[in-house]
Amino acid sequence: MTLYPDQLISPATRAFLARPKRMLIGAEWSAAVSGETLAVLDPATGQAFATVPAGGAADIDRAVAAARRAFESGEWPKMRPVDRERLLLKFADLIEANAQELAEIEALDNGKPVMMARHVDVALVVDFLRYMAGWATKIEGSTMDVSVPLMRDRELFGFTRREPVGVVGAIIPWNFPLLMAAWKVGPALTSGCTMVLKPAEETPLTALRFAELALEAGYPAGVLNVVTGHGDTAGAALASHKGIEKVAFTGSTEIGKLVGKAAIDNMTRVSLELGGKSPVIVLDDADPAMAAAGAAQAIFFNQGQVCTAGSRLFIHKSRFEKVVEGLSGIAASMKLGPGIDPSTQIGPLVSAVQQQRVLGYIESGLAEGARAATGGGAGGEAGYFVKPTVLVNAHDAMKVVREEIFGPVVVAMPYEDLDEVAHRANDTPYGLAASIWSNDLTRVHRLIPKIKAGTVWVNCHNILDNAMPFGGYKQSGIGREMGRAVLDMYTESKSVIMAL
Ligand code: ADP
Repeated sequence: MTLYPDQLISPATRAFLARPKRMLIGAEWSAAVSGETLAVLDPATGQAFATVPAGGAADIDRAVAAARRAFESGEWPKMRPVDRERLLLKFADLIEANAQELAEIEALDNGKPVMMARHVDVALVVDFLRYMAGWATKIEGSTMDVSVPLMRDRELFGFTRREPVGVVGAIIPWNFPLLMAAWKVGPALTSGCTMVLKPAEETPLTALRFAELALEAGYPAGVLNVVTGHGDTAGAALASHKGIEKVAFTGSTEIGKLVGKAAIDNMTRVSLELGGKSPVIVLDDADPAMAAAGAAQAIFFNQGQVCTAGSRLFIHKSRFEKVVEGLSGIAASMKLGPGIDPSTQIGPLVSAVQQQRVLGYIESGLAEGARAATGGGAGGEAGYFVKPTVLVNAHDAMKVVREEIFGPVVVAMPYEDLDEVAHRANDTPYGLAASIWSNDLTRVHRLIPKIKAGTVWVNCHNILDNAMPFGGYKQSGIGREMGRAVLDMYTESKSVIMAL
């Protein structure tokens, strides 16, 4: 970290980076049983700046055992809901108090602009944990009048209870490391579960700081365990572990299917939040400048490494040139740089692998006849940068239109009428999100039910709210996160019938 001027990295972040990195298993900070480690690279330079344990199956076993002990004995299972609420609020307060440090670690680890990390990622984490804390005291069942034919002369009483599902294994991706951790940790801890969290190998650092703050907040040992390590070892061991009751996964559809199969073999409850190829649909009444700015935000936010990224831009043919011109102008003007520099608008992609994948997609689009209106290649001298790219001259069968790119690359295509665009927008295996740009309420309302996606935005994109369920149709996943709906994913329903 000697590359960056002192003022860009606060003393708290430097102190965190200087501490040896250990996994949290039970009450202990420990190395991997194998002694193996993995290097954490700065995506803006490609240089290693931290080392974390490379946990494996043996470490997952230890962490699951610690989570099991905490779930079944000690103070956690006896803790009153109001005390779980208080604890989660305290955890949120600590994250807020350390927001700048967490944002800097996230920016260094993932490459994302530090201002975004602070005012989007960390801000959303704090709000979400506070929102989830309130649910601890509001998890409820119902009472029923029971009718049983053969017991006419007995008085019967029925009710349901919701109980914490048990030990949760959470596997999260590298694009929003802290936020994706919070989306799992919030509902697990508010509903009384215990958990083992495995961050992505590319971005393990904020999860470790998160774990320190959880201990500081006062969570009993074993309630939250963090195992760093690779996906095909630690991740696979967690997904297939017989000692857990639920797997919560966010990541690619390809790995999500493996995780889902491993979970179903043990009948482990599973929620999957997977990939997307979200359409942005600009109607003929939309203001071209507003649509261009919206489309830029939809695809370039977080370097396009967003499962809801608006990567297919359908523009009514009457607006096509204007919107593409506006979008390309914005793309060309965005400042590339390291995430830790507050003036950066587009950071590097997370890894060399991701950069090569995205560049490969751009090349395939160009080879199939698309043209880059702007961008179209790598950026910067070192690090994993890709220039914000707008592809035109594309058609629906191209790989760049069909597959998730997960980078700052949008394909803009004209359309003529609403039925046509609804059909083309749905012509994808994914169904995570979509946005519609128009002030024509009637046509917008007609389009919304036709779009097969878990979230539809109107005149905005990538806007999330804690109270709104989030998840995918089709191959974008199973289950919902956030909102009241997430509680169903972390609790079991128990029906009780009493003969009085
Ligand atoms: P991406 O393609 O965006 O890197 P992945 O789906 O590969 O996303 O990774 C998301 C998370 O899944 C990461 O924490 C990763 O370590 C983990 N993972 C990768 N492979 C496996 C696997 N075979 N089993 C379980 N988890 C895995």
